[in-house]
Amino acid sequence: MEVILGKTAGFCYGVKRAVEGAKTEIEKCKNTYCLGEIVHNKQVVENLKKKGMKFIENLEEIKQKDANVIIRAHGVPKNIYKLAKEKNIKIIDYTCPNVLKIHEIADKYSKDGYYIILCGNKNHPENLGTISYCNQNYDVVEKEEEINKIIDKIISNNMDKVLLISQTTYNLEKFKNIEKVLKNQLSKKNIELIVKNTICRATELRQKETEEIAQKVDYMIIIGGKNSSNTKKLYEIAKKHCDNTVCIETVKELEIEKLKKFNKIGIMAGASTPDESIKDVLSSL
Ligand code: SF4
Repeated sequence: MEVILGKTAGFCYGVKRAVEGAKTEIEKCKNTYCLGEIVHNKQVVENLKKKGMKFIENLEEIKQKDANVIIRAHGVPKNIYKLAKEKNIKIIDYTCPNVLKIHEIADKYSKDGYYIILCGNKNHPENLGTISYCNQNYDVVEKEEEINKIIDKIISNNMDKVLLISQTTYNLEKFKNIEKVLKNQLSKKNIELIVKNTICRATELRQKETEEIAQKVDYMIIIGGKNSSNTKKLYEIAKKHCDNTVCIETVKELEIEKLKKFNKIGIMAGASTPDESIKDVLSSL
């Protein structure tokens, strides 16, 4: 049996920085909290809990004085910084620089009067942060077909400037399709369109490699957290090219007996999947 492991599988730069940073911070000070899961991966969160990290959903949960709070790679809405200051909580900011860049773009263009279309999932924490910089003047598009309704709204409300951006882990092919429809429809009405492809490079490479491997193998394993949006996208991409694609969180879910009939197996993992989970699958195969 041949096994092909993606070179880009596992932690991306932003996640690695946040997870390593969180480990260092909890060793330095036990009074450290993390706002939300540090990454969408149960194993990573459990490991940090064992070291003493406390995970909270909002700053109100912090009752101690002199607390530190870690902001994860996804970033947070801008009011969190203000609230932390009011409550005298020290922020340790591990927002990925790629996400900070999107905040900057959204802030600049919304102040310049642009209507913002953000490709991604409306409830994803990264987008909640981005939306806070859009000044109520935005729409979120998850599926390609939703764009037509938004175009109608733009035209009927006589909007004249539109910005298209994206969640860092959005599917590149879908983004390009949305861009094409927008360009085509808005140019007919002389509406200005600015496109900023804010899908991060790490995501782009990972999606590309997933596609390449899935085309070559008879069975494809995607490893990642059940609530990880970038893992879900890798699964969708692989499934398009390889019918026998599974998505698992840990090696325990792997149906190893089923795999014996396959000759070539591909492995890819999401940006929040730790090396140990990948190694476990490899050694099991
Ligand atoms: S996927 Fe990209 S944007 Fe998100 S944390 Fe990783 S490097 Fe940063």
